Amino acid sequence: MEPGFQSERAQLPRNMIENSMFEEEPDVVDLAKEPRLHPLEPDEVEYEPRSSRLLVRGLGEHDLEDDEEDYESSARLLGMSFMNRSSNHRNNMAGVYNQEPSGGLCSLSSARTVLVGAFVVVIILSIAMVVYFLPKCTFTKEGCHKKNTTLTFIYPLDANGQVFPWPKVRLPTAVVPVHYDLTLRPNLTTMSFTGSLQISLLVKEDTNNITLHSFGLKITKATITSKGSSQPKDVQILEYLPHRQIAIKLDSMLLNGETRILNLEYSANLSDGFSGFYKSSYQDKNKTRILAATQFEPTSARNAFPCFDEPAFKATFSIKIIREADHISLSNTQKDVTTPVANGLFQDTFAKSVKMSTYLVAFIVADLKNVSQETASGTLVSVYAVPDKMDQMHYALESAVKLLKFYEDFFNISYPLNKLDLVAIPDFEAGAMENWGLITFREITLLYKEETASILDKQTISIVIAHELAHQWFGNLVTMEWWNDLWLNEGFATFMEYFSLEKVFPELEVADRFLTTRFKVMEKDSMNSSHPLSTSVKIAEEIEEMFDSISYEKGASILLMLKGFLGETVFQKGIERYLNEHKYGNTKTEDLWNSITEVKNVDLNVKEMMNTWTLQTGFPMVTVKLDTTANKIHLCQERFLRMSISQDPSSSPDSSYLWHIPLTYITSSCSNYTQSKCIKTWLLKNKTDIIYLKEPNVTWVKFNLHMNGYYIVHYEESTSKKLLGLLKNNRLVFSDHDRAAFINNAFILASAGKITVKQALSMTKYMKNESSTAPISEALIQLGHIHGLVQKRGMLQLAGRVKKYIFDIFGDLINDQTWSNNGSLSERQLRSTLLDVACDYKYGDCVQKAQELFTNWEITQNMSDLPSDLTTTIYSVGACEVKGWEFVLRVYNSLKSETEKSKMLRAMAKSSNAQQLIWLMHESLHHSIIRTQELPFILATASRTLAGYLPAWDFVKENWDDLVEKFHLGSFPIQVIIVKTTSQFSTKNHESEVQTFFDSLMDKGSQLRAVQEALEIIRLNIQWMDKNLKNLEVWL
Ligand SMILES: [Zn+2]
Repeated sequence: MEPGFQSERAQLPRNMIENSMFEEEPDVVDLAKEPRLHPLEPDEVEYEPRSSRLLVRGLGEHDLEDDEEDYESSARLLGMSFMNRSSNHRNNMAGVYNQEPSGGLCSLSSARTVLVGAFVVVIILSIAMVVYFLPKCTFTKEGCHKKNTTLTFIYPLDANGQVFPWPKVRLPTAVVPVHYDLTLRPNLTTMSFTGSLQISLLVKEDTNNITLHSFGLKITKATITSKGSSQPKDVQILEYLPHRQIAIKLDSMLLNGETRILNLEYSANLSDGFSGFYKSSYQDKNKTRILAATQFEPTSARNAFPCFDEPAFKATFSIKIIREADHISLSNTQKDVTTPVANGLFQDTFAKSVKMSTYLVAFIVADLKNVSQETASGTLVSVYAVPDKMDQMHYALESAVKLLKFYEDFFNISYPLNKLDLVAIPDFEAGAMENWGLITFREITLLYKEETASILDKQTISIVIAHELAHQWFGNLVTMEWWNDLWLNEGFATFMEYFSLEKVFPELEVADRFLTTRFKVMEKDSMNSSHPLSTSVKIAEEIEEMFDSISYEKGASILLMLKGFLGETVFQKGIERYLNEHKYGNTKTEDLWNSITEVKNVDLNVKEMMNTWTLQTGFPMVTVKLDTTANKIHLCQERFLRMSISQDPSSSPDSSYLWHIPLTYITSSCSNYTQSKCIKTWLLKNKTDIIYLKEPNVTWVKFNLHMNGYYIVHYEESTSKKLLGLLKNNRLVFSDHDRAAFINNAFILASAGKITVKQALSMTKYMKNESSTAPISEALIQLGHIHGLVQKRGMLQLAGRVKKYIFDIFGDLINDQTWSNNGSLSERQLRSTLLDVACDYKYGDCVQKAQELFTNWEITQNMSDLPSDLTTTIYSVGACEVKGWEFVLRVYNSLKSETEKSKMLRAMAKSSNAQQLIWLMHESLHHSIIRTQELPFILATASRTLAGYLPAWDFVKENWDDLVEKFHLGSFPIQVIIVKTTSQFSTKNHESEVQTFFDSLMDKGSQLRAVQEALEIIRLNIQWMDKNLKNLEVWL
């Protein structure tokens, strides 16, 4: 899946509980997780004597593995607050590595660190003593019980009070699905559907129940048939809502190796949201048309048909859809036959699928039109959209055909289906979804209108298509076993977006975009609220939270580093081997490393190295000290955290963190990047290390070339000064990405107090001569962030000085820009960034020029008169006036180009008129002109403005229930909303207001990782202001 608007792939997550209370098995395991849905009355509770087994009355005994119990969920139900959620999320691998004695280079910075470390040790010892001497306490409904109290369970009961035969959130594996025969009849008038389903089952272990997923479906008939018997037998269905499961209790045992067919008839309403089988609408010649589409990932297939809705339960599917004459239907496979059925309806029968996971099943019923092209290898590729957008489908078709060929060659495995449809859906929550053979997209990520769209729109469309096509192999053919390894899917697909585009569409210059995403995710990953790439998850909300920038961008970043380390050939061969070894199966992260290790023909354990990146939270800071006298480099690594110890004692760098870092570097003696002999490598596996240089008289070193490694570098002061001197005098010694990394690393180090803000700002001084997009964009982001913080503290004079500083550096470059579309993508992107900043800050004649173009457009109403790269800026300036804002809204309402509409929406959401912003938010929530899917974008954009940041936060508080009903709790849009509407706060009052609000939500959001992240960002802002405000006032 491609999350929503890409530039906002925000910073968010969830975690494992690290509450010592859970180290022991709790005495009460309450399996009801959502009391809101299914309150357990005291008299419903069934207590049984406890042994090490869970006794389920009347159903025999079920062994329970301790680690599979739902402690976390149980504790939530009991209303326990999760302490230490922001503590370092250590994992099992801590301590695996031999520790070098600390006190190396990293700790040189202060003796204070040593003192603090000793203090922390004393505190830990004290807590351990207290815990040891306290009477052991465990939680039950009555509170604290002594250890030897009779232990009890609360068993799950279905809605009718009957005992549900399966207690866990994860399904049993005793019975597995082999094949689904599904016939659906969606009714787009009544907004409902009926389904008829036969699931062929194979018994893998003796059992007396069949348990599977189902949610929101009304099952009207259920029978079971033994293989060879034509007599289906009625069975009773039990439903346990908190786990979204149904079960059948059988009179007799099913024995290993037996087969059964489960027949189910059911009905349900089409969903109002964006998941399951949901409805979408659009205007066609002033008439509202309805369509129905699906979005199942991660856990919503169960909302459309009863199924074993976990990625490892792969099966084949035969789907039939009954539709009206003026619709078409689409599914994963090609349509085999259409037959008329009763009442003037038609039944489309689709070919049997390959073996696949339920979250990849898809179907659509709509009046859509398509363009198609057959690839050289015989796959029919089609792009579908609503009829009046037919003219916008050709670019996507061309991209998809080229990229499909690239992937077939790269993976050396043919695309396994004979058709591939790419469908633009008017209402769509994510950016796109990789359903096998039937990829669905938001209209903006697929449709391209040549006359008005910008070059960056083209880049976005190709990137999203590249991402989803990569999934057809990585994700669909080989699937992660469970959602804890989601990064395997998403990190890889994100990596391939950039990798494939660099090969297939070099003119789209995606490298800068990849660099920016690396910077962004590292910002998030340098917080306590981050999480390891592979993180344990169980319930739906936790699974939703895995769809964050850690899984996507950090995953992609460590693959980029690995590819650089192994070389492209070994990397490719490893991937090819992995896909071949596991096709149609499921994997864990280590399977990928094993496949690559088998290819790498030297003594290197890829798994050992990569585990340090996937199992540990965060990333290392490598401290570099060049000893010019002895001609050697001292290296030291530690986890990089932005929060200082005084703000949060748990931020103390944990010395047990250790990474295997494939370092790259150049030295002053051989500094030409283009010569491979100059590029040196070093695998840093210990906390400290020394590189003895072979070349003589080295005066400077530069590590992490092109910022391709997932670590930041902290140079000791004399080296730092040398590098700054080089930037000033001969910046082209370094690549543009290295120059961007100098800027980024300086500001991120300053935010953690490793260097002063003055030193970070000094780094930008060289930039009067800078002309490359990557470093300039990064500097503008960092300086813009400072401006935003200061401005929202009401310090407008100081904010003005920040602006002046920006234009002292970049003023000349801005003055040189023309209002045109000329140049390479990179030049065009730079122009658009610079003029946007200039007009936002009212620099020079920017506003006047933009206003002239806007006024002219109002008169001619001809969009192609405007330079397409700069329309966002022009609309924003025009929409400053009430008349202009209303004009933009009118055009928005009638326009067919989603890319252009998005720019108009951005312009409207940047308004300085709070009333307009509040109107936009409500309008989008209730969707008459602006779709609800745009709401996170509106809130994020408005939150950046002085007029909008407080109304946006108020809106979130007032409409929280509606927001989590539209977007799932934990979902990417909810993550964006939480973090973006609070990230401008920098005062204790705001911190406590945000904390109080989310605490009050209880099970409707208080436990979300995004909340922890939001609070941490506010604390970081407070920390930054406390530390730097005075310096800033002096320095600027
Ligand atoms: Zn994806």
